[in-house]
Amino acid sequence: MPVLVDPLREYPHVPYRLKRWCHMAVDGSFEELHAFAAQLGIPRHRFQGDHYDLPPWVRERAVSLGAAEVSTRELLERMAGRAATARAVGLPPVAELSVCLSFDFDAMSVWIAQTDNPATISRGEFGAVAIPRILALLERRGARATFFIPGHTALAYPFLVREIRDAGHEIGHHGWVHENPAKLTAAQERDVFARGLDALARAAGVVPVGYRSPAANFSASTIELLVEQGVLYDTSCSGSDFTPYYLRRGDRFSKTGPYAFGTAVDLVELPFSWGLDDFTHFEFEAGWSTEQSAPSAVQEIWHGEFEYAHANVAGGFMGICMHPQVIGRGHRLTMLDRLTGVMAERGARFEPYGDYARRWREANPLSSWVEGGSVHARAAREAMS
Ligand SMILES: [Zn+2]
Repeated sequence: MPVLVDPLREYPHVPYRLKRWCHMAVDGSFEELHAFAAQLGIPRHRFQGDHYDLPPWVRERAVSLGAAEVSTRELLERMAGRAATARAVGLPPVAELSVCLSFDFDAMSVWIAQTDNPATISRGEFGAVAIPRILALLERRGARATFFIPGHTALAYPFLVREIRDAGHEIGHHGWVHENPAKLTAAQERDVFARGLDALARAAGVVPVGYRSPAANFSASTIELLVEQGVLYDTSCSGSDFTPYYLRRGDRFSKTGPYAFGTAVDLVELPFSWGLDDFTHFEFEAGWSTEQSAPSAVQEIWHGEFEYAHANVAGGFMGICMHPQVIGRGHRLTMLDRLTGVMAERGARFEPYGDYARRWREANPLSSWVEGGSVHARAAREAMS
């Protein structure tokens, strides 16, 4: 049992009725601690950032359910590595943060969408070579992730798609042959969406709940299409960073008039950022991306984002978009291993986008979210009044 309680202590001068309590912490993941607290009937809002305070009668029940009784010193030592480490280096108390790792398994599709040169297209084959390496890294970290897979890739490598599925990772929709929706008519976009769905179903029996647009581009009809298809979340837009928001239909904008916000719809946006995408940092593509950054530089950027979110955005989300054919190179994969190791030590929760989106939507249903204080909700309200 990794849950620990220390001895009860008197706090005679505190301005509360209850003046005697102990601490309950965990020598493991906060997930385990929260699950144990729930068993004791302690509401989640009593979480103190790295522990719960227990009154005497709850402490008794915790011990009878298997919590280990240890000295305060031992409790502090064994919970170190997460919150205690943060305090030791002078950071604010730990905010629980979900790190959602994603891999856009484009394989050949991303090249076929723009060329018929076999040598260029072969770049995509390396993505398939990298999949087992990525799965091994994730397994070592105990991390579940999301793979956005075009239908074209699913049919080229159905055995890899099944391995990804069987390892417990989420599979998301990523077009048919990596077409840019901004260049399609509404009818073509609908057709492409259906072909992507069909291929994932045929390759691995998967019905995706999430979508990332190839090239992170939308057409004027994309949001409508996703809502109509019952998609839970999208992760192609960049209107926020560590806090999700609901997308809108009917925004109006032009070069001559003010921006007019439309109506929020029940489609969660888990924000995307080109800075948290490996392609622009690492890959050469003539006329578009010529960077060949050192992994240490990218690690510094991604770690900086993590550090900020971890300290400031309680319950937040950090999404990283990678491509097996990019991140799968040895020197870059080594960086990802180091970075996720640091994140794990700091108590990051690695989970698929879909898991986070479901939880966020439950905690922030559209009907109450639009009444809330976020900039997105306020702008939408202002536009309606
Ligand atoms: Zn892609």
